[in-house]
Amino acid sequence: MSKQPCHGCGSTDEHWTGQVCDECATAIRGYKELMAQRISDKATVLMKGKEREYALPHIQHCKDDKLIKHGFLALQNALSVPATWREGLTDQRIFKPSPTEYRPSDWDTLVRIRPEHAHALGETYEAVRQAIERAYKDGHQAGRDLLSQLAGGHITADEYNDKALRLEG
Ligand SMILES: [Zn+2]
Repeated sequence: MSKQPCHGCGSTDEHWTGQVCDECATAIRGYKELMAQRISDKATVLMKGKEREYALPHIQHCKDDKLIKHGFLALQNALSVPATWREGLTDQRIFKPSPTEYRPSDWDTLVRIRPEHAHALGETYEAVRQAIERAYKDGHQAGRDLLSQLAGGHITADEYNDKALRLEG
């Protein structure tokens, strides 16, 4: 027995030398069982997921899309189990590349996942991506309309400033 810090959690409770503490051992067993369950789940299929959040389909005009991508990658990992290329090949992707995608296959990883979960993940990501890009374009268009109103003499400089402030807000 030893009281060296556990490699899993750092606990200094007495545990077997060279092994993790009981709590960590239980957690690892639980994780293995969960993975085994998912692997044996006949409803899962092989699909290409992403290994890194920054490899998720690009969201244009969104400088801080890190949190969104981080969240979707966490969901992918929570709903799937890693698979090896030996289990088979697939062209099915959880996340559909955006039309402007430069290298859509970057950081591809093979996973087992239920088709309905993959579908929900992919569709929701795509909806978020499009909503952000549309919001940007709408804002852009509103700004342009306002400028042309000013240039055409349809509104005064004061009115322009007032409306531009409201667009920013
Ligand atoms: Zn531990």
